[in-house]
Amino acid sequence: MPTQSSIPDVEIPRQDLWAFMFNSKKDFADDQVIYRDANAPDQLYYTFSGVRDAATSFGEGLCDLWDWQRSDVLAIYAPNDIDFAAIVYGTFYAGGIVSPANPGYSPDELAFQLKNAGAKALVTTKAFLKPARLAAEQAGISTNRIILLGSERDETFSVKHWTNIRKASRSQRYRRRKLDPENDLAFLVYSSGTTGLPKGVMLSHRNIVADLCLIKGCVGHYYNSGKDKMLGVLPFFHIYGLTGLVHQPLSRGIELVVMPAFDLKKFLTAVQTHKITFVYVAPPVIVRLARDPMVAEYDLSSLRMITSGAAPLTQELVDTVYRKLNIKINQAYGLSETSPMTHTQPWDEWYTSVGSVGKMFPNMTAKYVDPDGNEVGANEAGELWLAGPNIFGGYWKNEQATADSITEQDGLRYFKTGDVGYQDKDHNFYITDRVKELIKYKGFQVAPAELEGKLMDHAMVNDVAVIGVYHKEQETEVPRAFVVPAKQAGDSDAEEIVKWLDAKVANHKRLRGGVRFIDEVPKSASGKILRRVLKDKVKQEEDGE
Ligand code: AMP
Repeated sequence: MPTQSSIPDVEIPRQDLWAFMFNSKKDFADDQVIYRDANAPDQLYYTFSGVRDAATSFGEGLCDLWDWQRSDVLAIYAPNDIDFAAIVYGTFYAGGIVSPANPGYSPDELAFQLKNAGAKALVTTKAFLKPARLAAEQAGISTNRIILLGSERDETFSVKHWTNIRKASRSQRYRRRKLDPENDLAFLVYSSGTTGLPKGVMLSHRNIVADLCLIKGCVGHYYNSGKDKMLGVLPFFHIYGLTGLVHQPLSRGIELVVMPAFDLKKFLTAVQTHKITFVYVAPPVIVRLARDPMVAEYDLSSLRMITSGAAPLTQELVDTVYRKLNIKINQAYGLSETSPMTHTQPWDEWYTSVGSVGKMFPNMTAKYVDPDGNEVGANEAGELWLAGPNIFGGYWKNEQATADSITEQDGLRYFKTGDVGYQDKDHNFYITDRVKELIKYKGFQVAPAELEGKLMDHAMVNDVAVIGVYHKEQETEVPRAFVVPAKQAGDSDAEEIVKWLDAKVANHKRLRGGVRFIDEVPKSASGKILRRVLKDKVKQEEDGE
């Protein structure tokens, strides 16, 4: 039998994100600071009404200067920045869709996303302008459709600057475009899903509004408007940061101290200086907190909870951080396709259910199935299928991948997560394995098919399969390539292939697990790579060591 959430359903208003944020009753003041720049906290910040005003200007500017149409896509290729929300909501104002991209992407990787999404404009920072331009050129986006934001606010984007250009051009006022929350998309985020190349995950306004309501229904009562302070260190381009750090503070009236990238010293300084109470992180941050002696030099006593998600976290790490630092850690789970969060441990159960990803959010239904699609019994592990209002609409212009990942059953629309797990009698969910190809390097997605495609261009590579192997010291998976060489190959060839790929891909996709040469890539009769065979081979080697 499918499992319903153990938490009572919550009401999800039928509103688009703009109306949900700015036209609804809220329990905090208009001048509540929402985003504060960690590097210039007294000068650079946005209040709630400041975000609304800046977004209005940006949205009007898009309509006025560029004749922005409903469902036009704007891509953002930038590190975290306090202007992010103004751009996102400004795009919504003009009826557009936002597609955020990892600023670590090479021009080719970015161009892939820009082309696939059909982006009409690109927002970036001065530091990323060079790769942005190269990618824009490949995607047919003209240079005058690249907007700069960032620290050089006087001369470049700044919402103010944009507004001034607009005022100088015309003074017509544009009304906010009416959107259909169910059918109008808010975001195209990129994920490889269970198989193949990265795909645009279609997230509607309703999906994100729903996830915000479900998070609130599950754990929202643990934190308070105007009192709690969060740290914005997870990347905003990833759905975990996008929903948790861009939208959530705006909807809850919580101040977010924004950091462009993770740096342990800056992280610790920010927690101490701003008396941060709550942080979302991925497991690598927990690893650093557990191991780096520098941590002891800081006062982190303001932290009431750290939530870890995006990749598995061991109980040992939770224990170590609590023992050494008296800091509590709970887990959250979700995917790009689920807007993203679907599960989290209630704060007061952080230790009683340690190791679990927590309770399923309200309004959601789950079932576990075996490889043949049959539901497994209680307490048995199976692939987790999820249904609920936060489940994405499908993959952008990819009906096959959509059909493969969504199935209608029992009157519900289930998404097949590709993750394996079970739940205990107290409704705690556990994730134990993955049946999909996806590799997660420190919470970042690596799609084996993408690396395989690139590696096939190397002269030494006749055939190749990429899998994730576990790196014990770094406590993360790393990609490893099994290569059928074109001729006799040795260690120096393996190193050369690693270096060659390094130059072509974002940092997190590098072959940190190395290259191994094999005679043949194991494949099924239909030509599908049998990754499990390679995984078993690695396990045997490790066990034999
Ligand atoms: P993404 O779409 O990048 O958010 O990646 C989603 C995938 O990350 C999931 O399908 C899981 O494989 C993994 N993941 C996310 N959260 C957790 C967690 N708490 N524990 C284990 N794996 C997780």
